[in-house]
Amino acid sequence: MANILKIRAHHLLCIQGFQGYGYSKDFVKNMTEVIKNIDSNPEVEIIAECDIICSCCPHNVGGVCQKELNSAQKVKDMDIQVLRKLNLKDGTRGRAKDFLLLVNTKLKNSLDVQDICGKCEWRKKCLWFISRGKPDDN
Ligand code: SF4
Ligand code: SF4
Repeated sequence: MANILKIRAHHLLCIQGFQGYGYSKDFVKNMTEVIKNIDSNPEVEIIAECDIICSCCPHNVGGVCQKELNSAQKVKDMDIQVLRKLNLKDGTRGRAKDFLLLVNTKLKNSLDVQDICGKCEWRKKCLWFISRGKPDDN
């Protein structure tokens, strides 16, 4: 059986806001490919650890996010928040587009996502975050 595509939960949000910015050329190229793949609506597994997007990120050191001090825990907390809000368990499998629809049904405004995206450096460039309402300017 082919390896299932694993997506960390908060990346279900990020992939919808991507417009070509990222941490490195490789990161952007890989993210673009992942999004293209997601467009074909594959089966995916939603996880709370490094995923296919992290695999080309310069902050991924040995499968652990080390962007900043405590990043591994911070991003995991974002994933857990998303799982909780979507009422999903870590490791749930399903069609990519069903998860994206669930995200967009449950997380509709800036209050819904404040505790997930609140400190993300990409907020002002993220089309998905912007579409949830006016981002706070700080
Ligand atoms: S604001 Fe950041 S964490 Fe939130 S969806 Fe956009 S890129 Fe992801
Ligand atoms: S910053 Fe961390 S969570 Fe985000 S893509 Fe890179 S390794 Fe993954």
